[in-house]
Amino acid sequence: MPDTTIHLALTDDWELRGNGSGRIAQIQFHPMKELRRIYESYGVRSTFNVEVMQQLAFRKFQDKHKELKPLADEWDDHVREAFRHGQDIQLHVHPQWSKVQYKNGRWILSGDWALPNYDQDTAYSMLAESKTYLEELLHPLDPAYRCVAFRAGASIIAPSKFALSLLVKLGIVFDMSIVGGLSVNTRNLRFDYTDCEESFLPFYPLMEDARRVSDKTEPIICVPIFHFTLSRRQSFRQTVLKAVRQAGQKSSRGAKENEGKTDYANQEWAEVGRSSRLARVYDKAIRPSLAGKYMVADISQLDYAGLKEMIAAIRLRARATKLSCVPVILTNHSKYIKDFFDIERFIAEISKAVDIKFATLTELAERLQAGEYPVRKA
Ligand SMILES: [Zn+2]
Repeated sequence: MPDTTIHLALTDDWELRGNGSGRIAQIQFHPMKELRRIYESYGVRSTFNVEVMQQLAFRKFQDKHKELKPLADEWDDHVREAFRHGQDIQLHVHPQWSKVQYKNGRWILSGDWALPNYDQDTAYSMLAESKTYLEELLHPLDPAYRCVAFRAGASIIAPSKFALSLLVKLGIVFDMSIVGGLSVNTRNLRFDYTDCEESFLPFYPLMEDARRVSDKTEPIICVPIFHFTLSRRQSFRQTVLKAVRQAGQKSSRGAKENEGKTDYANQEWAEVGRSSRLARVYDKAIRPSLAGKYMVADISQLDYAGLKEMIAAIRLRARATKLSCVPVILTNHSKYIKDFFDIERFIAEISKAVDIKFATLTELAERLQAGEYPVRKA
């Protein structure tokens, strides 16, 4: 029997940092160009999940703050250019941009990070405005273009009385916010996906809680982002390399931007209740070296060896289904990419694999609607 074919969707959350910081040219425009150079040289079509609330804020403030307009125009240009060259563009929304100020050249975001924490009307207008912006931007290039896939900011989609229903109302075919096994408890975010009933195959979600699988056909589908356990050996190696890199950043001259990046990530993603240094050392270094490390399939967080382990884990899960083909979604974060060399090496290798075909999110939506992938019910 032939191997299961993997329809691999490479996606990228294309955005500034969660608190609005970061230089857009450095953490969005440059990495998108690099990713496109790699993908397009291997004939790979990927998807950029572009965060639109940020762009709406740039547009809102561009008359009062003249430096914002050329950046917002350049954002449009990058999105259009990517689309023109065969990359897919889909919808990503970070609600914290809904309450925004611009002072002394910096964004101050005070909106809640979680879509389900808004009232339904406010949530709907954020989603609808963002979707309209993207569709109006791309319709001159392709009148048939539609937003069909959605990724919630920081993955927060469940539980919610209305989030999935609003996506249905907007014509979204599938949501890709669920990441099985992930749980986050920080000062800005709290959600728990440790007990998701399906974390690999497409499924019909309970409309008020996408962590559960519905027993009937629903008007929207969830396709999870892949996750896996990095081996003990790679976990240990990753910890050591990270420590070396951070030590190098501290000692090298002119590394302010990188230092800021590390500080931001450490503060923003610090677990509540895990504040002691010893507890953090245990979580980050010791436990993964003993048991392996839970990993979201996020290209920006993996080196070449980690990416190879990820593909091996995907093949194992895919073959176990005994299906002829399965869709698998990987995420990426332009703003966090450290090493394009490893990504290029990885893409060069898997673009030759006979059991892997690349697919955009628009293509996954078409295949889901055509019934080419079985969609799980409880
Ligand atoms: Zn995001």
